[in-house]
Amino acid sequence: MVEIAADPTHPRYQSLLMRHRLEEAEKKGMLAGSALIAHGRGEAYDYLLGEQTIPSAMSATEQALAHLLAAQHPVISLNGNAVALAGKELLHLADRLGCPVEINIFYRTPERMDALIEHLSELKDAHSYDVEILGAQPDARIPGLEGPRANCVKRGIFDSDVLLVPLEDGDRCEALMAMGKTVLVIDLNPLSRTAQMASVTMVDELSRVVENMNTLMAADELPEFSNEYNNEHTLQDALDHIKNFLTARN
Ligand code: ATP
Ligand code: MG
Repeated sequence: MVEIAADPTHPRYQSLLMRHRLEEAEKKGMLAGSALIAHGRGEAYDYLLGEQTIPSAMSATEQALAHLLAAQHPVISLNGNAVALAGKELLHLADRLGCPVEINIFYRTPERMDALIEHLSELKDAHSYDVEILGAQPDARIPGLEGPRANCVKRGIFDSDVLLVPLEDGDRCEALMAMGKTVLVIDLNPLSRTAQMASVTMVDELSRVVENMNTLMAADELPEFSNEYNNEHTLQDALDHIKNFLTARN
């Protein structure tokens, strides 16, 4: 597995590399038991999208980045899979945007929180990123959610106006939208509740989206958001893409 993941000429290199990163994160105690299942569902949709950034996903990514750039108080929310798959790149993005990241996990245990904070802190120090890592001490709750999933940080997620939440769960996405936030999600499944609920849905693989955002941030001209953006069209385009992919194979 490690050998295949180290060989960029392998046709499934990217996919194997992502699996490898999850395996490593699992060993460090960063993931919940369901993390690999969630990833597997993502992989299935990615296969149907041709494992590429389709043009409508790129437009959604530009729109999402424009929202982050125009925000008063942008925050990037991180779960275990996001940290495992693109922790360094997400910190890089937060550094360039000048915003905090907040670890916000579905199944919260002190051990997992510690493992995630330690991993992110190591990356932050190794690359000298100037990013505040929030989440260790939640002091607010997202209204409308039960249990520890509602916990968040007041000056982080709670007070944010624009929130990037890769791989969010459907009812939390709904609760965040109900707080009046602009919620930007990355979800390979255009049919999920998260995808349907969000302000902007990037139907694309998380590590590709973050790479695209970092490339856009390094360009001379930054994206501006369009008032004509329509998230339903973004989702429909992804579904059409999958349909065409399947029809072409028949
Ligand atoms: P929802 O709660 O929104 O209805 P769900 O319960 O079906 O969705 P979850 O288990 O909450 O799904 O989360 C997994 C979601 O994350 C899936 O929709 C999957 O397609 C997506 N996903 C998993 N890995 C990635 C990835 N690397 N990049 C983008 N999306 C991913
Ligand atoms: Mg869910």
